[in-house]
Amino acid sequence: MATSHCVGFPRIGRYRELKKATEAYWRGDLDQSALMAEGSRLRSMHWRMQQDAGMDWVATGDFAWYDQMLNHSMMLGAIPQRFEDGIEDNQLDTQFRMARGRAPSGQATAACEMTKWFDTNYHYIVPELHKGQTFQLTSRAVIEETAEAQEQGFNAKPVLIGPLTWLWLGKIKGEHFNRLELLDDLVVVYGQVLSELAKTSVQWVQIDEPILVLDLPQPWLQAFESVYNRLQTHDIKIMLATYFGGLQEATTTVVNLPVEGLHIDLVRAPEQLMSELDRLPAYKTLSVGVIDGRNIWRSDLSGILEQLKPAREKLGERLWVSSSCSLLHVPVDLSSEERLDDEIKSWLAFAVEKCDEIAVLGRALSGDNSDKIRTLFALSDAVACSRKTSRRVHRKEVAQKVNAISPRLMQRHSPYAVRQKLQREKLKLPLFPTTTIGSFPQTTEIRRQRGLYRKKQLGRQAYLESMQQEIQATIKRQETLGLDVLVHGEAERNDMVEYFGEQLEGFVFTEYGWVQSYGSRCVKPPIIYGDICRPEPMTVSWSVFAQQQTRKIMKGMLTGPVTILCWSFPRDDVPKRTSCEQLALALRKEVTDLEQAGIQVIQIDEPAIREGLPLRKEDWPEYLDWAVNCFRLAASGVKDDTQIHTHMCYSEFNDIIEYIAAMDADVITIETSRSDMELLDAFEEFEYPNEIGPGVYDIHSPNVPEREWIKQLIQKAAEKIPPERLWINPDCGLKTRDWPEVEEALTNMVQVARELRAEY
Ligand code: GLN
Ligand code: ZN
Repeated sequence: MATSHCVGFPRIGRYRELKKATEAYWRGDLDQSALMAEGSRLRSMHWRMQQDAGMDWVATGDFAWYDQMLNHSMMLGAIPQRFEDGIEDNQLDTQFRMARGRAPSGQATAACEMTKWFDTNYHYIVPELHKGQTFQLTSRAVIEETAEAQEQGFNAKPVLIGPLTWLWLGKIKGEHFNRLELLDDLVVVYGQVLSELAKTSVQWVQIDEPILVLDLPQPWLQAFESVYNRLQTHDIKIMLATYFGGLQEATTTVVNLPVEGLHIDLVRAPEQLMSELDRLPAYKTLSVGVIDGRNIWRSDLSGILEQLKPAREKLGERLWVSSSCSLLHVPVDLSSEERLDDEIKSWLAFAVEKCDEIAVLGRALSGDNSDKIRTLFALSDAVACSRKTSRRVHRKEVAQKVNAISPRLMQRHSPYAVRQKLQREKLKLPLFPTTTIGSFPQTTEIRRQRGLYRKKQLGRQAYLESMQQEIQATIKRQETLGLDVLVHGEAERNDMVEYFGEQLEGFVFTEYGWVQSYGSRCVKPPIIYGDICRPEPMTVSWSVFAQQQTRKIMKGMLTGPVTILCWSFPRDDVPKRTSCEQLALALRKEVTDLEQAGIQVIQIDEPAIREGLPLRKEDWPEYLDWAVNCFRLAASGVKDDTQIHTHMCYSEFNDIIEYIAAMDADVITIETSRSDMELLDAFEEFEYPNEIGPGVYDIHSPNVPEREWIKQLIQKAAEKIPPERLWINPDCGLKTRDWPEVEEALTNMVQVARELRAEY
């Protein structure tokens, strides 16, 4: 029998039950024991789903209240000093305070940094590391949850993030040092966890070391050898899991590590199968990740079976089949979708269906040739064929427009210096102009109205009017606050990508296709299934309405092509670049329509540019070239005196600053407040010529920034960037916040801008 398993399973629940429970707990509507009970109910259900699909192992330890990296920081006792108060009595709240600055109990404090997990849209809480740090087994969640699964009769395979990956993703605070110095002590705790797990009936533990697919410095790669030597002694078999790419030059080291099994991602890097097979020592198990954990398409089972033949012959029982990576990155269950178009639905597979696919492959590899298996293979063949020929997927007129893209379309009329002068004359903004990133609180009332509209209990006109009222009120508030460049607040948008996708052709939407983004926040990525075009304007009437409500400048608000692409499930039958160009052409028309309707400042958000970066540096230039070109294609149709903004969050810019500059946005707003303006160094060194709005208000935390705090951030910024090129704004959109805190924070922000205008 070829063993089947998945690398990890989504934790949020079919209907985002985890989100609902955690948020209720934060609000004080659910007590801790009720939250705990909901957690075990979800875990149990997810194990059952895996088992029912026919998995030989179910993953344990992949559950998290907030984030899996944070779980490991808790496990290791890597809890920054400022949270130490109260950990003894309330580990759960300590986690929440680390993640979001506050919890039902314990002191509110600055939250830890959060950043994207590899090239996904999942965010983890960054471990804080300091010189001389020691570790001790603090949270036993993985051990307890494994026991929980076993008690319920499941065949548990605990999953851990490996010590090297945890350490690599951590960030040094204070005095600089070599992080590898911490490894010795760190491994002791991992060893304790393994020996505890070994005392149960656990046979295999999966240890994830996805950093092995990165360009890893030699000392880090070498460290694997000694770390796994030490961990190997614990009477438990280790399946070392790698994913999101191929091992490349790390292959020799990795196949020879003293572990019993190795998992590789054959979706991202199919070419590595043969080299692994050649080099894998005879006693080792190979787990092949052949079902895409990052996308929602049904797999071509026959193709995979063919691909795996040599592995089957060589490895026999020692071949395992799996998802390429954790299924955390795909929605839970396709069968919940009742409104999806039947044809398109037949093309899709979510986590549950992917487990089915894994199990079917496992059985086929074991020689099962029953009617049932043959029918499933025939179904998969039919899907592959229908996608290839469907007219809904392939549109000639779109392909023609993409072929006609020329460099001229990617160029503004004049260079930035000329545009800047014209824009200053026209817009007449003060020094340190203040603005926001676009969204204002999505209140319960807004969501209620949208809910009614979706359920058809509210007519279109009534819905539009209620959103207009929201917009009016939001504009009034901004006028009272004294902001300089206003926004309409995005009340009418459920989500910055979905809103556009719904109005474009080539997209399809799910009802329950949620994927965790960070903590309790989930996103429901649209699915790009075919060629994209814009049948009509998407935002113009809203922006025009908003501009009519005020004499101040109203900023038009769009999501950029790269971000729409990155935050959707892309096609797997054309290169991403092709879909991106189609999107850019659609948005270009929207931009020029906005301009013609009198909108003078237009923001094209591209928060996802960086996360779209390939994991290996050698692949960056190709991606960045088309990504930047697509942005320029979308932005360059306007006159010189129309000001184009872009916005990015969570970004580090050091290594891509030349490309950011090449985007040539007149103004860029970025996330900086959590990283203390460090991000600006890259702009300073590069002598970035255009205007910048470094965020001065961390919108991920409910804490209101004090004036002094904002002021010192701006002063720091002004040491790096000439003050006349600085804007003042929050880190990101405010839709997840509440009005009272937003008003308080923005009052402080505007007040500081005024004070500083007098000083500079
Ligand atoms: N304009 C969007 C908003 O304010 C930008 C969000 C983002 O960058 N993620 O919500
Ligand atoms: Zn943002």
